[in-house]
Amino acid sequence: MKLIFEMGAPGRGSELLPVCKTPYKSQKVAFRKKTLRLPEVSETELSRHYTELAKQTHGVNDGFYPLGSCTMKYNPKVNEEAAALPGFTQIHPLQDSSDVQGCLTVLSEMEKALCEITGMDACTLQPAAGAHGEFTGLLLMKAYHVSRGDIARKKIIVPDSAHGTNPASAAMAGFDVVNIASNEDGCVDLEALKRAVGEDTAGLMLTNPNTVGLFDPNIAEITRIVHEAGGLCYYDGANLNAIMGITRPGDMGFDVMHLNLHKTFSTPHGGGGPGSGPVACKEFLAEFLPGLRVISAKNRSGKGQMVSGKSGCKEDPAIRCENEVRGFRDELRMDEVLEECRASGAIGDVRSFCGNFLVIVRAYAYILTLGREGIPEAATGAVLNANYMMHGLKPYYRMAYDRTCMHEFVVTLEQEKHDRNVSALDIAKALLDHGIHPPTMYFPLIVHEALMIEPTETESRETLDAAIQIFAEVLKQSEEKPEEMHQYPQATPIGRPDEVSAARKPVVRYEF
Ligand SMILES: *Cc1c(COP(=O)(O)O)cnc(C)c1O
Repeated sequence: MKLIFEMGAPGRGSELLPVCKTPYKSQKVAFRKKTLRLPEVSETELSRHYTELAKQTHGVNDGFYPLGSCTMKYNPKVNEEAAALPGFTQIHPLQDSSDVQGCLTVLSEMEKALCEITGMDACTLQPAAGAHGEFTGLLLMKAYHVSRGDIARKKIIVPDSAHGTNPASAAMAGFDVVNIASNEDGCVDLEALKRAVGEDTAGLMLTNPNTVGLFDPNIAEITRIVHEAGGLCYYDGANLNAIMGITRPGDMGFDVMHLNLHKTFSTPHGGGGPGSGPVACKEFLAEFLPGLRVISAKNRSGKGQMVSGKSGCKEDPAIRCENEVRGFRDELRMDEVLEECRASGAIGDVRSFCGNFLVIVRAYAYILTLGREGIPEAATGAVLNANYMMHGLKPYYRMAYDRTCMHEFVVTLEQEKHDRNVSALDIAKALLDHGIHPPTMYFPLIVHEALMIEPTETESRETLDAAIQIFAEVLKQSEEKPEEMHQYPQATPIGRPDEVSAARKPVVRYEF
């Protein structure tokens, strides 16, 4: 396929619109010295180019996408319609808050809904993704300890089954990471946890159900042990799809958490598109939340709520934006933000304005559509589908943990790898030729040759049956002709790229 720079011809472009006659004003300093070499293509060519690119990828609209831990469920189109409404798209973050009461209401209602779903008291919608939420939540924990003069708490405990972002975020936030081994059930080893906690414990990061798809039965005991040692408990909300509307991290004893709106609350994701990772916390951490939160003018005098110094809106609307009070701190470097957090409490903005607003609108539309009955129904559907598929695959594949699972489960190909050199990668690649996006591979790290399967609640029984059949056939094929398994996929635009070079030496600019 040609790159966009290799298409078109000089002078070609779209001339549907008349030339703009408004005089162009700009600060001279911002002028570029050389003209930018942009592709010169017709609108038809452009449209075909992107359609062709879209055809080369696999998304939830193309077929089954059981990518464990990522919750690749179907995104109802009504969410897109809501997010495309001009009242949501034709706005500016610096607009007077009296003009955007609807948008502020969405933000405020969303905070309330997320608090209710998670069992928390306060929420920021600013973080742009799950990992960003982790970082934000860890800064809250840090600010809390620092505010109490408890500055020796430098260690964050992370189980060895954790998502890689957990230890990475902890390190980014300036903590030392303490790894603890899981027990043979894939859950937290209580004795190991007791040995790990102490006066230097800042907190624990955990996801429940965990990364092998099991709900930790000791969760209340785990959070109690950490609290008793003076630490806080951070909940990685990526697996919320299994429990939403049924149980809540706040009730399990967690103090702060993120949600991945792009996973649990059905916003299109993958390929690094816009995400949203709101952070919810208990009341005692609320004062540290990043700026720019929507507050209701009705209860502006409550604890932790700022009173606006300047009266922006004469008609005194019900809702106003807290930015009037705190101002914008985007320009600050992280260490300055932390410095400021020591001085004033709040950790400072982690992103500009109110986060990825339209992603939040999509998730809000989804939550309202499902409602009180639909949210737990989606969770139970996800758990049922995962168990159905796990049961269907059991005659063929070895389960890493042979127990009733939550929304996902992990199989291991360790034996196959040992006996006939067929790896998890080989099976994953072979599935591509059958129109199935492979499950997550080689995660969690505690399972060798892992494939992590998450069917989600939006797949039908027919789809699951067909997928079970294909998984079984691919494994059978690997028994009969193991050496052939290294040659798949054959029906996709690219087969087996050099992933190390792609990650270490990516080519991201076109050399003319
Ligand atoms: C996806 C995921 C994350 C990170 O979330 P992003 O939105 O991708 O940054 C963290 N933990 C777990 C368990 C996840 O599955």
